[in-house]
This record gives sequence, structure tokens and C-alpha cells, in this order.
Amino acid sequence: MTIFNSNEFYDHESVLFFKDRTTGLKAIIAIHDTTLGPALGGTRMWNYASEEEAITDVLRLSKGMTYKSSLAGLNLGGGKSVIIGDPQQDGTEALFRAFGKAVHRLNGNYIAAEDVGTTVQRMEWARKSTPYISGISEGGAGDPSPATSFGVFNGITAAVKYKLKTDSLRGLTIAVQGLGNVGMGLCGYLHEAGAKLIVTDINRQSVQKAQELFGATAVEPEHILDQDADIFAPCALGAVLNDASIPRLKVQIVAGAANNQLEKPRHGKALRDLNILYAPDYAINAGGIILISNEGPNFNREKAMNQVAKIHETALDIFKRSDKENRPTHEIADQMALERVEAARAKRINVDRLTG
Ligand code: NAD
Repeated sequence: MTIFNSNEFYDHESVLFFKDRTTGLKAIIAIHDTTLGPALGGTRMWNYASEEEAITDVLRLSKGMTYKSSLAGLNLGGGKSVIIGDPQQDGTEALFRAFGKAVHRLNGNYIAAEDVGTTVQRMEWARKSTPYISGISEGGAGDPSPATSFGVFNGITAAVKYKLKTDSLRGLTIAVQGLGNVGMGLCGYLHEAGAKLIVTDINRQSVQKAQELFGATAVEPEHILDQDADIFAPCALGAVLNDASIPRLKVQIVAGAANNQLEKPRHGKALRDLNILYAPDYAINAGGIILISNEGPNFNREKAMNQVAKIHETALDIFKRSDKENRPTHEIADQMALERVEAARAKRINVDRLTG
């Protein structure tokens, strides 16, 4: 497999491969862009079918982090890491300590965090080898999911304000796909705001919990797209917006936590053509990274959550500009993210010229 010519390679600054003989660690760290600051992004542990699949994933995800942090107004760059292995069986303390050593070699250019297949506990093991781990409980912000739920909630209120011309969710029906860490927290905010919930999950216990706590109506996973609702909130899988699913939607708004909801960029246009307002996933699911970016000796949760609430304004800016320029919202989000990186890069180039 070639890397520089890969479809997922977008001028990444570095892609590093790590192998530890003793623990069997096989990891790849991709740093996409550090113009705005050190590259922060989660560590994913997955039983990848091939190295190509792992490389594709880390290249794609690290670029996504550059966009997400930039759009959220954070002084952080984009990076991501993957560990090739079975998250159920291979996630030992020794392996994560070895991973921490790999992260340490990058001298703070990359900061890791929890992601799919890596728990807070595992990242705490990695932290024993390096300070460049975020989102841990001790001395850190802890689990970022509640902040992500709050951010998505703020994205939804922005979409409702823009599309339905109301500041209240009272009486609106919201179909939530996935009741995990983020989806369940989101349901809490939506319920409190007076929305009616239709929910689904492959985990029956989670569904029961949402029924009990929020009076939610449960449907089977295969029926969630067909619901008569105002909003569809995908909080489970990626690529959920595709040729097969979009024609089934009866909602006016799609806004949820799941990463990479559009199977292809053209699906963002398909939603716009159907007059469905799509809140770009990475614009509204940035709550977790905003919280983590606040970590440090002066960490203040309230201040961090106020910053998360600004997702509301960012989403409104995207919606307005999308209509003004008659372009899909995901394109506008990308453009706004890139503009900030490019402005910082231009400034840096000018400073470099002046100093030297
Ligand atoms: P999670 O694993 O806790 O929850 C996912 C839920 O989706 C689980 O309850 C699972 O049973 C359910 N699910 C899986 N397949 C399903 C299907 N076919 N139909 C219905 N339900 C299904 O994950 P999470 O942390 O809540 O994250 C949810 C999404 O948000 C993911 O796409 C994640 O990448 C994204 N995200 C999470 C965060 C965060 O802070 N946790 C931040 C940004 C983005």
C-alpha cells in the first residue's frame, strides 16, 4: 500500500508506526496538522482486517480532528492513533504502557485520548509512561461523553431555531438512534426540554432505561428511519445517511452525535435538495474535545461547559452561510474550519519571514 498516494492522505505532517516486541503493541499515530496547536485525538483499538484498513482509518480520522478542533475554535491540531489488536483480549496494562512510551517519543506534538476500544482506565495506564494523555479521571476532565451530549443538544436547539423558528423543543418529536454514553445523555437534555422521544438501540436494557427515565417510545432498530418525527438524531453508527436511508426520512432536521454520518459528501447535498437541515456531525459533536482542551492545573468544568454551549452559535453560523451561498452545510463547515487553519498558517509564515 502506498501512503502518499492514498486517497485518504491529505498532506499529513507525519505518520508513525510503532512496534513493541515485548507486549506485541502495533500502533500507528497520524499527525495531520499542527498549525493551530498540538495534535489531539483519540486512540482507537480495533481488530483491523488489514494494515491498509488501519492506515486508512488513522489518516481519515486524524484529518477529521483538524477540522473539528478548528471549527470549535480550539488551539489544537488534528491527530489520531490506532492500535491494531483485539480490544477485548489484547488491551493489557503492559500494552498501553508501551503505547504511552510511543506517544511520549513525539514530545507533546500528539496528545492521545480515549476512543472506540480504549477505556479511560486504559488511557490511565498509558499515562504512566507519558503526560501527553488527556481525558483521564485523575487530575483531568474524565469521561468526555456528557459534554458531547450537551454540545449535540446545543446543536439541536440551533437547528430548531433556524429551521422551525422556535426557541423551544416542547412538543417536538425526536428520533434517537443509539442510547450509549452520548445518546442516553442527549435524551436526558431533550426530555428536560419537553421533547417527545422515539428511541432505539440493539441493547434492550438501554431501551428499557430510556422508556423508564424519559417516557420514550421504543422502536426496533430497523424502523428508526421511518418515524414521523421532527428531528432524527443519529448517535450510533457512521455512514447512516446514504442512498438507501435518506429517501426514508420524514424529518426536517438531522442532528446527532455519530461521527461521519454522511456516507459520501454527495449525501449532504441530497439532504439539502430534500429541504432537510443537516447539522454537520463534527460541528455539533465537539463537546468532548472542547472539555478535554480545558484540562490543566486551572481546569474549571463550568467554564468548559459554557464553551461547549457555543456550539449553538457555530451551528447557526453554518446554517446561515449555507443558505446564503446555497451550498450544503457540511461543505460550509469544512470551509469555515479550513479558513481558520489557513489564516493561522499565513500568519505563521509571515512571522517566520519577519524573524528570519
Ligand atoms: P457508545 O458505544 O457508548 O454508544 C453507541 C450505542 O449505539 C450503543 O448503545 C450501541 O448498542 C448502539 N448501537 C449500535 N448499533 C446500533 C444500531 N444498528 N441501531 C441502534 N443502536 C445501535 O458510543 P458513544 O460514546 O455514545 O458515541 C456514539 C457516537 O457518537 C459514535 O459514533 C461516536 O463516534 C460519536 N462520538 C462520541 C463522542 C463521545 O464523547 N463519546 C464524541 C464525538 C463523537
